[in-house]
Amino acid sequence: MDFDDTNLATKLKDKNLFRQKCFINGEWMDSESGKTFEIYNPSDSTLIGLMPNCSKKETIFAIESANNAWEKWKKLSGKDRSIIIRNWHELIIKNIDDLALIMTLENGKPINDSRGEIMYASWFTDWFSEEAKRAYGKTIPSTTADRRIITIKQPVGVCGIITPWNFPSAMITRKVAPALAAGCTVVIKPAGTTPFSATALVELAHRAGVPKGVINLISVSEKDVSQVGDELCTNRHVRKISFTGSTNVGRSLMAKSASTIKKVSMELGGHAPLIVFDDADIDEAVKGSMANKYRNSGQVCVSANRIFVHEKIHDEFAEKLAKKSAELKVSDGRKEGAQIGPLITMAAVEKVQDHVSDAKSKGAKIITGGELDNEGRQFYKPTVMTEVTNDMKIFYEETFGPVAPLIKFSDDEEVIQMANDTSYGLAGYFFSKDIGRIWRVAEALEYGMIGVNAGVISTEVAPFGGIKESGVGREGAAEGLDEYLEIKYICFDGISN
Ligand code: NAP
Repeated sequence: MDFDDTNLATKLKDKNLFRQKCFINGEWMDSESGKTFEIYNPSDSTLIGLMPNCSKKETIFAIESANNAWEKWKKLSGKDRSIIIRNWHELIIKNIDDLALIMTLENGKPINDSRGEIMYASWFTDWFSEEAKRAYGKTIPSTTADRRIITIKQPVGVCGIITPWNFPSAMITRKVAPALAAGCTVVIKPAGTTPFSATALVELAHRAGVPKGVINLISVSEKDVSQVGDELCTNRHVRKISFTGSTNVGRSLMAKSASTIKKVSMELGGHAPLIVFDDADIDEAVKGSMANKYRNSGQVCVSANRIFVHEKIHDEFAEKLAKKSAELKVSDGRKEGAQIGPLITMAAVEKVQDHVSDAKSKGAKIITGGELDNEGRQFYKPTVMTEVTNDMKIFYEETFGPVAPLIKFSDDEEVIQMANDTSYGLAGYFFSKDIGRIWRVAEALEYGMIGVNAGVISTEVAPFGGIKESGVGREGAAEGLDEYLEIKYICFDGISN
């Protein structure tokens, strides 16, 4: 099915899900200056809509609203907050068609992938609606007979939530659902390229009964983003910053947040290794690599950016991966059967082109792809390269595109050393059948998440997050709730008489 997206609202079953405003203190509003910025479809560069270009002033208003709302919200029982998050969850599922279409138009991902992301986003509203009831403290045996010791967990307070464009819905629910469950209030700053998935989710949260001021959303153009970012990071009422995005921006937000000693969660860049050992099931490894590498056109933080293949099976693996890669359908995400959508911006295209041409100039061989696709100027062909070496940019930098660089290795020690030779530490994967090797390699890889014979491992029940320069903190699972809670120790004296 093809769409004319000249007016997005007319394509939706519920046109009120297309909101071109920011949301502060329970009301949709424009920026005070009346200034806006434009959002384009990356598939065909058509204008989708406008968002208010907010400044420091609206950011302060949103923070104050969140701070005022916190007084009441934190006093609700976990069960009462759970009921509201559950309502939000149900509305997300009910509106999946509209939410997926909005996402495909602003992000470009194939419509089936957008539906998959909305389901993934809903796993967090589902999980944290339950976890809202489980912010358990402890009783601790005292060292003296006349004292009793307990801990309780309490919400951190107002949270600044800054999200990227590559998972425009899931990154919102993965942060906002636990924040609400814990009793925090939020000011969201979505990516400038994909704000409409965020505004649609906020509209649904409002309908679900989230009280005014508990969720606020500020939009700002990429050019003016630091005005909003600086206020979120330095305002004393904001007690936590939860950020997903690049390592460099995360580093700068952490430094700014240090001025008021905020709690931070940082989900940053990745540069995942994927290792195929000589005892692996090659077909399974190809299947896992395909699922891992090409989701969202390779614009995924946990996507493999270096594929190490044992020399004994290298050629067979390379041939099979190249064949399957060439079969992928590159097209506008709205078209039936689309598998590879556009890259988000021309800057992203240029980065991919730079990594591929740098590798080629240093001896890499392109066995499929390696160029733009005829579908449009932001579409890049799925690409497999062999003979990749550690003097190439792609060996050390996150490419964020549909490029699979293959590196030959001959022994375990060597490949572990190469896999760990990076400042990133988000996710790593390997394929092997040897149980001893599986344990040794899983323990030796310096990454926060490891997939063993699995290319896609994200789930709401397991803690997602990285080490080294890939971040601080975990999202999802029980740990994801703790990120929004403080521990208070209470000591009772004079118990014995
Ligand atoms: P980015 O440039 O760091 O942007 C992420 C968010 O930060 C956007 O909302 C962006 O706004 C905002 N931002 C940029 N500068 C800011 C500032 N000075 N103050 C406040 N906010 C600021 O990253 P991206 O290109 O959107 O996303 C791709 C990166 O995210 C990759 O490195 C990827 O690995 C990483 N990522 C990590 C995870 C994870 O869980 N670890 C998940 C997904 C993505 P604008 O859009 O207006 O620039």
